[in-house]
Amino acid sequence: MEKYVDMSSQEFRKYGYKMVDWIASYLENIEDYPALAQINPGEVKNKFPLTPPQNPQPFEELFGEIDKKVMPGMTHWNHPGFMAYFNSSSAGPGILAEFLSAAFNINGMLWKSSPASTELEEVTMNWFRQMVGLPEDFWGIIYDGASASTMHGIIAAREQANKFNLRHKGLGGWDNSPRFKIYASEFAHNSVDKAVITLGFGLESLTKIGMDEQFRMNVEELKACIAKDKAEGKIPMCIVATIGTTSVTSIDPIEEIAEICQKENIWLHVDAAHGGNSAVVPEKRHLTKGWELADSIVINPQKWMFMPIDISIFLTRKRDVLRRGISLSAEYLKTDQDEEVKNQMDYSLQLGRKFRSLKVWFTIHYYGVEGIQNIIRNHFKLAEEFKNLLLSNKSFELVAPLTFSTICFRAKPDGIEEKNLNEFNKKLMDAVNKTGKIFVSHTVADGKFTIRAVISGLRTNSDTIKTAVELFNNKLNELLGKKV
Ligand SMILES: *Cc1c(COP(=O)(O)O)cnc(C)c1O
Repeated sequence: MEKYVDMSSQEFRKYGYKMVDWIASYLENIEDYPALAQINPGEVKNKFPLTPPQNPQPFEELFGEIDKKVMPGMTHWNHPGFMAYFNSSSAGPGILAEFLSAAFNINGMLWKSSPASTELEEVTMNWFRQMVGLPEDFWGIIYDGASASTMHGIIAAREQANKFNLRHKGLGGWDNSPRFKIYASEFAHNSVDKAVITLGFGLESLTKIGMDEQFRMNVEELKACIAKDKAEGKIPMCIVATIGTTSVTSIDPIEEIAEICQKENIWLHVDAAHGGNSAVVPEKRHLTKGWELADSIVINPQKWMFMPIDISIFLTRKRDVLRRGISLSAEYLKTDQDEEVKNQMDYSLQLGRKFRSLKVWFTIHYYGVEGIQNIIRNHFKLAEEFKNLLLSNKSFELVAPLTFSTICFRAKPDGIEEKNLNEFNKKLMDAVNKTGKIFVSHTVADGKFTIRAVISGLRTNSDTIKTAVELFNNKLNELLGKKV
């Protein structure tokens, strides 16, 4: 076949095998790379020409280009020492599923446009729901991230406040437009703020509720805010509660919040983007207790179930409300099966969608539920190990309790005044990250600069934990001017 059509099948085989070899070696030798890219802004782009190649270049060359130009600019999320943000690591089955998905290149907007994708998504979402122990009345759909999932939760909440017909009138279509209220804790993810901005409610509609000493939403304050808002003629519409806040993985009191939601007819969206994955381990389900009372829940398997980014699962007990809130139909999208099938486009802002359920299927199939449970169970164990090793040096303290597998801590060595501790801990973190052996990130909790070590990487093991704690001890001593 000529060049201006597609690669020939011989070429595809040749480079395909080569690419698979390249990936296998990469993952095999990933510890040879630094966890955090050790470069400055601009260093990657400066290696590339300013204009695109006019003539074909040998595909073969791309492998070398990746090694030379791309790799130095990579922060390696699959590195065992990657403990920053919320780690997302990817396993082989999901990587291969992505490969296949690109080859099929379906668009799953309608059942008819890809029956297999629509139905496999239904099957795998039902599996996933069972895996995390949620009741049968939860229905799931895949979005591209938790930000999108949470926005869809708020769209459904808006629809539930239906008597205002916001879908048609919008916020400005009223004399004395009422103000709708959304509540979340101070540590809720800023995707809630973004959704509120995007949907036009405005940030003034969002009240951030204070937290107790363990960074959990303060329910008394929530109740008082709702009562005050109602007295002022505002309309409480949605509460976003978090299971596993991004800052410190704290857990809001879901059952108490659910009770308020039921009493006040407010939509409860639970953001369990990271933490929700752990419910696959039965003995950890006390951490997610009460989430079955939610109207909608988001869990990101890309964060803690080794499926390649992007995959976020949105589960709701009120699928029809979501559908009323977002579905539209166009003549060219009508099909004979509309009465009997679910068209994914009716439940999402996104029209076109790729075959994401393949990676869910491949991953569950490859490991089995038990295999996945064991990996996540081990992360809990490794986190305990990290905590105990770290705290055996009295110069370290936890800033927040260890709930899932994220250790939130700071150094508080003798001789450094409280007012200098934030700067000191930032230096400590930077020094550790500069080694390239591990990568941790930070938050500020209670005014304290807090280092977060997230133990949820597929390749993280006991040795990684020992290396990490040793690094913290060594760099601490160096900063204090002690001999290592
Ligand atoms: C990561 C995270 C998000 C955002 O997830 P995206 O998939 O990147 O949009 C939202 N909420 C929580 C609690 C998170 O940890």
